[in-house]
Amino acid sequence: MMDGGFRRGYEGRRRATFAALVRAVGPQGLTEELVEATVDEIVAILAVLAPMTQRVVRGLTATLESGTRFFGGSPFSSLHRDEARAALAKWDRGPLRLGTRLLRDVVVVAHYDLPSVRESVGYVPDPFIAAKKAERLERWSNDIAAHQALLVAPAPLRLVEAGAKQPRGSVRPGHQLLGAPTECDVVIVGSGAGGGVMAAELAEAGLSVMVLEEGEYHATESFTSSTTGALGSLYREGGAMSTLGRTPVGYAEGRCVGGGTVVNGGMAFRAPDRVLKGWSGVSGDRGLSDGRLDDAYARVERFLSVGPPDPGSVGRDQDLLRLGADRLGWRVVDDQRNHVHCGGCNVCTWGCPTGAKQSTLVSYLPRAMSFGATIWPGCRVDRILMKGKRAVGVQGRVLGRENTESKNTFEVRAKRVVLCAGALQTPAMLQRSGIQSPSGQLGRNLAVHPGSAVVAMFDEPVNGWRGAHQSLQVREFEDEGIVLAAVNLPPALVARALPFDGEELAKVMSGYNHMVTAGTLVEDTSTGRVRAVGATGVVPTYRLNERDAERVTRSIFLLSEALLTAGAHTVFLPFGGRGPLHDGDGLRQARAIPVKATDLALATVHLMGTARIGTDPLWAVCDPSGSVYDTVGLSVADASLFPAAVGVNPMLTIMALSTRAAGGIIDSW
Ligand SMILES: Cc1cc2nc3c(=O)[nH]c(=O)nc-3n(C[C@H](O)[C@H](O)[C@H](O)COP(=O)(O)OP(=O)(O)OC[C@H]3O[C@@H](n4cnc5c(N)ncnc54)[C@H](O)[C@@H]3O)c2cc1C
Ligand code: SF4
Repeated sequence: MMDGGFRRGYEGRRRATFAALVRAVGPQGLTEELVEATVDEIVAILAVLAPMTQRVVRGLTATLESGTRFFGGSPFSSLHRDEARAALAKWDRGPLRLGTRLLRDVVVVAHYDLPSVRESVGYVPDPFIAAKKAERLERWSNDIAAHQALLVAPAPLRLVEAGAKQPRGSVRPGHQLLGAPTECDVVIVGSGAGGGVMAAELAEAGLSVMVLEEGEYHATESFTSSTTGALGSLYREGGAMSTLGRTPVGYAEGRCVGGGTVVNGGMAFRAPDRVLKGWSGVSGDRGLSDGRLDDAYARVERFLSVGPPDPGSVGRDQDLLRLGADRLGWRVVDDQRNHVHCGGCNVCTWGCPTGAKQSTLVSYLPRAMSFGATIWPGCRVDRILMKGKRAVGVQGRVLGRENTESKNTFEVRAKRVVLCAGALQTPAMLQRSGIQSPSGQLGRNLAVHPGSAVVAMFDEPVNGWRGAHQSLQVREFEDEGIVLAAVNLPPALVARALPFDGEELAKVMSGYNHMVTAGTLVEDTSTGRVRAVGATGVVPTYRLNERDAERVTRSIFLLSEALLTAGAHTVFLPFGGRGPLHDGDGLRQARAIPVKATDLALATVHLMGTARIGTDPLWAVCDPSGSVYDTVGLSVADASLFPAAVGVNPMLTIMALSTRAAGGIIDSW
């Protein structure tokens, strides 16, 4: 959340502390101009982090500044670079280790996202993006126009009585909600994967639909390649959140019109039959298995134009992972992606600047508006209004610019409320509204697909940023719940992932264009829990069990093996105590050293399963069509519905379940 006071608080002494940190963590001999530019970037990053993280950073910088003086030296800001590095190294061995890492991460992200630093490591995406955008429009204008026409053409999910033709909907300013309560048939909270689909299906059926979205509206034309810019504007709290537990899992959520679909990589896979059968078995929901979700999947795939990458859009990083897997005889599948002629400029996670990726921003939400739905950005719902067991609307706040807090409350009254706020915010909203599931499972069973990443160096140029975000997956180990993929990251995020700083980091980063960054996804059996805290806070806890810790470790070594087999001369591992790998012998030795769960650096962008569906109200929070048990007029249609981890990228399954839930609402209207 942007906070002007926070920015002001970073003038003077704190700024000097950060400048000293930049000199210590950055390469030797940085010009003062670069130091100052990095500090400006740091202040901008910190301003979008969670208020709790901001407080932690304030405390850490103050402790660092005074700590060195306390032990008989000078304040941190006046130390020479070598002294400052020694002080940080000492901290890194002590109880403030996690805090030191946090400060180090902020500094390297800020530094390696500076335009001149990106250029110095050979990352110059903007002219490439502009060329790809122009080429797409020129070459594929007919296909683009045909898909846009398809998106607004009637194709009702259910044959309903044709209602009165609604006026065209639009994106509306939140202040129009202030004053007397506004009324509609259905109010949808959240505009991402679940919310976008729900809005379009219900609006097409003739219902009056309002979509309330906490994030702001950002048009395709506003998307750039700036990592820190996108983290600030499109992600909740800068995408720098973490679960609590002995092995924290870093996670990111989209917060903008289009939600996670705007910032995701565009992989659009159906859930494996094995998973759907398992879900059906545990939940009693027969509609999940035996191909009974196929129609819903097919409908979503049509509106999202799902298909394999275009020839010519596949990057060299993808070819290298395929080469390694082929040599090992491992099974590889082409990605299915939601795109209309993606040319491959690899900034999907900062918002697709060409409009090729079919996020809900450019697909389902325009469709919803063409059937009369209205979208309300910057409107955060705080709670559901209940009359006994019946949901009668929602109450929330119209936020200030850049999602700042405000006291401007609004109310929307509706015959049905559908929560599509994602697997963390939806259960928290239900809890905050006093809903108590008879199952006792609300907020429980959080699954996260814990994953980790390696950085592999090749002699040949890779230029992984030229090509689609991801074009294939290694599925050889799918039945073990392990998927491997190469995903190019911008310099700022590669620098954050590497386990060193200073000259050493600068030296490795100078080989940026020879890197393959790759990650793993593990279908977890561990679970976590979401709890609402205060008026708006959400705290997820997660406990990685031994079985999953072993599988994450195994997945990292499998990935390393594939990349070494493809010809990598160095692979940097994501756990401490092991130097980089250079060959099979090194890999064997590294495998022989036990890895503790607490050694793992875990991250996820897949959060699922906190209001699960099922046929038994004492096991599930929602019935198979998403209605919340023990309530009337209240549904969920997002990733919360999953009975367990899905094992592949979840977006398409969320959308298929939302399509099914929309059908249920229309049938019962
Ligand atoms: C970086 C990244 C890459 C990913 N890559 C892929 C991929 O390639 N393929 C794939 O399948 N999945 C991917 N995912 C995951 C996928 O995007 C999500 O699983 C999916 O978007 C979740 O859908 P949802 O409807 O549950 O929630 P979201 O899409 O997250 O939408 C929830 C929306 O609700 C809004 N909201 C929350 N609380 C409130 C409130 N109180 N009031 C109003 N609005 C609120 C949020 O701002 C958000 O816009 C990725 C995710 C990320 C972050
Ligand atoms: S690679 Fe991603 S950002 Fe680039 S055009 Fe394709 S979908 Fe869009």
